[in-house]
Amino acid sequence: MAHHDETAAFRAHDQDCLVAASLACPVCLSGHVEWHLSLTDDYESHVDCVCADCGHTRTVFLGQMQALRLALHVRRPLDPTPRPEPEPVGL
Ligand SMILES: [Zn+2]
Repeated sequence: MAHHDETAAFRAHDQDCLVAASLACPVCLSGHVEWHLSLTDDYESHVDCVCADCGHTRTVFLGQMQALRLALHVRRPLDPTPRPEPEPVGL
């Protein structure tokens, strides 16, 4: 498969399940993906993903807010369970 650079598709404030889905394997659609975050202070932050089921590897480049979001999950794994959006609260 030809190598091509990919940018992350999730938004920094998306639910865990959407972030996890964006890191899922594009070949076999497995959600069992090991990822390793590489943070830089320029625009090169990226996450290296390895599919635990088929072995597909890919590098996904991140915006600064996306990198910050994933940094929050280095110790707390992403929860892939979809949850209802919280009710908006009038202020
Ligand atoms: Zn896979």
